[in-house]
Amino acid sequence: MDYTKQLSSLIAHEPQLRLLIDMIPEFIVLKDGEGRWLVTNKLVLNSYGMGEDYPYQGKTDKELSKVFTSQKHNFFYNVETDELAWTKGETIQIEKTLQTPNGISRTWEVIKTPIFNQNGDRSHLIIVSRDITKRKIAEEALKNSESNYRLIAENMKDIIITVDHNGLINYLSPSFEKITGYRNKEFLNVDALAFLQYIHPEDQDFVKQTYHELIFERKKLHAYYEYRLKNSDGQYIWLEANINSIYNINGDFEKLILVARDIIKRKIYLNQLELMAYYDHLTDIPNRRFFMDKLSQEIVKAGDSKQILALMYLDIDHFKKINDSMGHDIGDQLLIQLARRIQQSIRETDILARIGGDEFAIILPNLTNELEAKVIGERIVNILKEPWNIEDKIFQTTSSIGISIFPKDGTNPQVLIRNADESLYTAKAKGRANVHFYS
Ligand code: GH3
Ligand code: MG
Repeated sequence: MDYTKQLSSLIAHEPQLRLLIDMIPEFIVLKDGEGRWLVTNKLVLNSYGMGEDYPYQGKTDKELSKVFTSQKHNFFYNVETDELAWTKGETIQIEKTLQTPNGISRTWEVIKTPIFNQNGDRSHLIIVSRDITKRKIAEEALKNSESNYRLIAENMKDIIITVDHNGLINYLSPSFEKITGYRNKEFLNVDALAFLQYIHPEDQDFVKQTYHELIFERKKLHAYYEYRLKNSDGQYIWLEANINSIYNINGDFEKLILVARDIIKRKIYLNQLELMAYYDHLTDIPNRRFFMDKLSQEIVKAGDSKQILALMYLDIDHFKKINDSMGHDIGDQLLIQLARRIQQSIRETDILARIGGDEFAIILPNLTNELEAKVIGERIVNILKEPWNIEDKIFQTTSSIGISIFPKDGTNPQVLIRNADESLYTAKAKGRANVHFYS
């Protein structure tokens, strides 16, 4: 295509061309082979402070710089970069930051295309540029924030890992080495799925699924999970991970940022809390809460297997007198030893719990008949009559037991408990130290 001819004819129609290029939101300048301005648009005229009607045609940058002295450096810069395009002989792209006449710093992306005629002589130079100030500011901010984030990442106790849009790990914070004992460089540029082999088999599926949802299916932007990771010593450590997907302004997936921390201390603490919530601190046997949960479960099981279950309520007779005559500490020791004695006389599948005070409950699942419950109840009452030896004091106590039977005396926990309690009350009323069935 003969550009020269085409351009000459365009220049001949300068008014129409000017109208057209004024509508384009880019900066356009057309110069001839000697650097004389031929056509430009309003955006350019305004940015140089020339005024829209200034007769720029036929003037070189050098000449213009003498008129618009405040823009001198810009015109000189033009000369330099024009020459660059000419000598290169092909389109060049440069970024240019300059102060506009009103003192604002702006950045342009400038594309200069030199056109030569058939003899190889310089014919025209087309200069198109666009204002990329906003993009630059955004990029700058991103760069700054990245360096800030990096500084934070490098100094955090938490592990930070980023995974790029191809699923490759591209950053691991130094804390990763400290916590896991692995070398960061072993994992850099490695597929993030390589981590799966270090994750506890029970946690693998969940981790894999979440990862897929984040990076491939793009179903969610954030995920949280707790998992076990095998460290370099082959020990599993508990980690808690927060993962965020990062998308760029165009909506393309850019990376995953994973922040993980060692939660072994919390796990231990939670375990203890759980124990505290379900166990009686004095006797170390299950407490009322545990008993309630267990009773519901055992009732369902007994119902399913069509078996009998007995619920025993046991209360020490005249326990107040022990406290009053021998002191509260001995009362405490008695509760502990009594729990131990009962525990030793029942099966492992039976459940003993302290309901409160001197009251205990025993769930006896899998009974074939009521008589079994009677035998066990009487055995317990008898062993609790045996003398106690606490802090060199030898004494005896008795206890009473009330029994209700599933399904005969109730099919839900509340009714069974109420009826066992009522039977206990009757046992007490009948002179204590005995076993009484609900009737
Ligand atoms: P009864 O035969 O009617 O059961 O008479 P009792 O004296 O045992 O009366 P009751 O069962 O109503 O009272 C239980 C007492 O147990 C009341 C309270 O002072 C005492 N107690 C409750 N919790 C504890 C504890 O943790 N340690 C000690 N030492 N005593 C407790
Ligand atoms: Mg009592």
